[in-house]
Amino acid sequence: MLLHGEDGPLRLIDFISQYCQTVFFWVLLFIPFVVCQVAEFISIDCGGISNYTDQNTGLAWISDAGITTQGKAIEVENRNGDLQQYQRRREFPADDKKYCYNLPTEERRRYIVRATFLYGSTDNLGTYPKFELYLDATKWATVTVVDGSTIYVKEMIIRAPSDAIDVCLCCATTGAPFISTLELRQLNLSMYATDFEDTFYLKVTARVNFGAPTDDSIRYPDDPYDRIWESDLFKRQNYLVGVASGTERISTSKDIDVNTREYPPVKVMQTAVVGTKGRLSYRLNLEDFPANARAYAYFAEIENLRSNETRKFKMESPYVPDYSNAVVNIVENANGSYKLYEPSYMNVTFDFVLSFSFVKTPDSSKGPLLNAIEISKYVPIASKTSIQDVNGLKALQAMSPGSLWVEDAGDPCNPAHWEWVICSGTSPPRITKISLSGKNLTGIIPSELQNMDGLTELWLDGNSLTGTIPDFTNLINLQILHLENNRLSGSLPPYLGNLPSLQQLYIQNNYFSGEIPPALLSRKLIFNFEGNPKLTQGTQQRAHLKLIVWSSVAALAVLIVMIFGCLLLLRNFRRKISLPKSNVEVVSLRANSNPSTGSLGREGHFMDEVTCHIKLSEIETATTNFAKNIGEGSFGPVYYGKMRDGKEVAVKIMADTSRQGKKQFATEVALLSRIHHRNLVPLIGNCEEANHGILVYEYMHNGTLRDHIHDPIKKKKLDWLTRIRIAEDAAKGLEYLHTGCSPGIIHRDVKTSNILLDVNMRAKVSDFGLSRKADEDLSNISSVARGTAGYLDPEYFASQHLSEKTDVYSFGIVLLELISGRKPVSEDYGAEWNIVHWARSLIRKGDIVSMMDPLLVGSVKLESVWRVAEIAIQCVELHGASRPKMQEIVLAMQDAMKIEKGTDQDSQNISPGSTKAQSSRITLLTSFLEIESPDVSNHSIAPSAR
Ligand code: ATP
Repeated sequence: MLLHGEDGPLRLIDFISQYCQTVFFWVLLFIPFVVCQVAEFISIDCGGISNYTDQNTGLAWISDAGITTQGKAIEVENRNGDLQQYQRRREFPADDKKYCYNLPTEERRRYIVRATFLYGSTDNLGTYPKFELYLDATKWATVTVVDGSTIYVKEMIIRAPSDAIDVCLCCATTGAPFISTLELRQLNLSMYATDFEDTFYLKVTARVNFGAPTDDSIRYPDDPYDRIWESDLFKRQNYLVGVASGTERISTSKDIDVNTREYPPVKVMQTAVVGTKGRLSYRLNLEDFPANARAYAYFAEIENLRSNETRKFKMESPYVPDYSNAVVNIVENANGSYKLYEPSYMNVTFDFVLSFSFVKTPDSSKGPLLNAIEISKYVPIASKTSIQDVNGLKALQAMSPGSLWVEDAGDPCNPAHWEWVICSGTSPPRITKISLSGKNLTGIIPSELQNMDGLTELWLDGNSLTGTIPDFTNLINLQILHLENNRLSGSLPPYLGNLPSLQQLYIQNNYFSGEIPPALLSRKLIFNFEGNPKLTQGTQQRAHLKLIVWSSVAALAVLIVMIFGCLLLLRNFRRKISLPKSNVEVVSLRANSNPSTGSLGREGHFMDEVTCHIKLSEIETATTNFAKNIGEGSFGPVYYGKMRDGKEVAVKIMADTSRQGKKQFATEVALLSRIHHRNLVPLIGNCEEANHGILVYEYMHNGTLRDHIHDPIKKKKLDWLTRIRIAEDAAKGLEYLHTGCSPGIIHRDVKTSNILLDVNMRAKVSDFGLSRKADEDLSNISSVARGTAGYLDPEYFASQHLSEKTDVYSFGIVLLELISGRKPVSEDYGAEWNIVHWARSLIRKGDIVSMMDPLLVGSVKLESVWRVAEIAIQCVELHGASRPKMQEIVLAMQDAMKIEKGTDQDSQNISPGSTKAQSSRITLLTSFLEIESPDVSNHSIAPSAR
């Protein structure tokens, strides 16, 4: 988001420097700490109406009124005390856009970025807002308000990727996105450094101050870095429960030496809990887990131990018994009392529910002690749109000050793309299309566009552009260029004729002059240059043009003769065919037949591409006159057959001979004959005799996935590994349709009955009758959403806008079916009748077991089920933009497979969300207890404490 100063948009850094200049005098005289604060802290009161200093903390807050013109400030009813920053919130429209704040950073410095949300008002309808929070292109959190008077805090620790970051809100599923405060805190150089910071941010999940005297949290100025240390007395559901009996709170007023790496505040270290009966234990839910995490424990001995007293304890872990071999002795580890010892786990996998215990060793006189813990989740950093594309777009935005579209901020492609651009699905995303027709652009075409070499379409027509066409020689992918109805002048650059991909060029109604470069007239190109009076075609070009016109006329004549010949041949061929009697369906097909009507090939011009035409007689022999019916779909009946060469086939006969039916047939033939992938059911051939369509597919011995999941006998074949492998296969098939075909193809009817299983129980996706090319009609809204109830993407249903994410939603339902063994729609799910709501509520509770197919319970690793459940729930997100791509689903299935097989040993390469349970726990243990690296070569570890 840009700041608007008198001279136009300013970035936040400019605003702050102006602000600093104004207050400099006062700051110097009276409140010196503000100088350092303003330099290192940014505190924005979103919706606030003035700048002020918080009397409690001394923090200087600035109102966002000068930062953004978007959204509106809303007075908060339930103000949560007198804190000035929670008197108002800024609310943004609940639309497809994202709303961003741009914060200045120093590249590679570490920061805490914190956003807080107090809704305040009690909503009459009982529905509170739920929306997404992004940091640049990285999904940070889903903000779900369930209580209007709670302040929700989201905190991320980052190493700044560049000189600014964008914090964006978008994608509301209920209510409107809003924000109360936004804070940026610079950290000391090495604090929070991890080996993974090039690719992962740290999302703070828990930071707990144990033994706190009240339920107030501790932050600045007690913590010079303004971390928020939540009191262990603060009550939240399923948070710090299961406290062991005998747990007592202790405190000291003595100073604590906290000069370690993370510098926790002395005040936090001055309190602790002690397990007087020998045990400390807690259980807490970790939001968005299972995941990989960085975990710290902070210990300081704050009791005066007598010379005969010792405090030694071990950590108890249900997963790795060897944990208990290492002993914590705080005084020894920290080198004295009142000194901090902060062991860490740099890469550990935690489940949604974390239980931990510290237990006194038999030779210890005192029970365990704990001052604080901190747990952060590794969040993978999503690639931002390539910088050269962003620069090009910014240059265009600068050409139309005051226009609404100029306010688009944040990453142009993720999470929601700006309305006037289209992005590639690559990493990093590239801009493929710019649509700025009639958008009040003035000035010369910016030279920055030259670097946008992913562009295929550039629409700048109907503006007031002046000057010449700049150097676009780099735009080797540019296919369509619209520059008409501007005030462009000068000659047409000769390179235009040599742009390798250019197919359409529109420059009419400008002031171009000189001769049209010959290459533009001689190549295959739609070229409109009318309304440029001073633009001429050279004599050589005119001669050339004549030649082209004459050769085109000649070619057309030859073509007409050929078509006529073909039609004659086809007529003769039809006459020779007589349909022998077979069963009822075939007879009824024939009854409608009319040899003189056109073939399906006329409806679907793809027919020429069919790999193999099979004669009806051959099909009848193969199916023994359609003797064995193996199914019936919306296309028509399906029969088993065996071809002369022994190949087993499934023969689908088109029941619908309407125009629509023929179109579907032609689509299926055209698509399938072009597409070959091991996870797509192959089309062997087709037959379209007497105006009817027959498709011959490879026979899939194990039928549909639906039959297996919902048939109590067949189900037994579906163990968990088989289910994951089927999901992986099917995801690969869909991934190929989405990204391996050009243009990409959307299946539109992904469901378990369209996933077929071969003799080895490997899956292939079938039934492309409803498929549609990804770039076909996408700009248009079709009137009817196609698909099957229970699998239908609600976003597509509501908007009729089709995208690959429509298939992803349906695939999410398939995954939920695989996990649960339940049908997508059933009254068992309660009022909603829908597997999605049922599954989502169980996952939120961390109750994966209740969600699992009872056949699987007890025989599989829960972590691998979590991995699949986690991605399934992402697939069924309401907004397509929040759903994963098929490729990510394939990776998730591979992860789950590795976890299940126990082959996931690479603990160094963390992959977030992947539960590298065993190996990372071993790494963690090593780090936590600072033990010598154990020898894991024989799969057993024997650590010893240092
Ligand atoms: P709808 O058309 O309504 O989406 P559907 O996907 O079940 O339903 P079809 O693809 O026509 O419809 O298939 C009907 C049935 O025929 C399937 O359920 C399956 O049992 C069987 N079938 C289809 N193709 C094959 C094949 N290649 N091998 C084995 N059986 C098949």
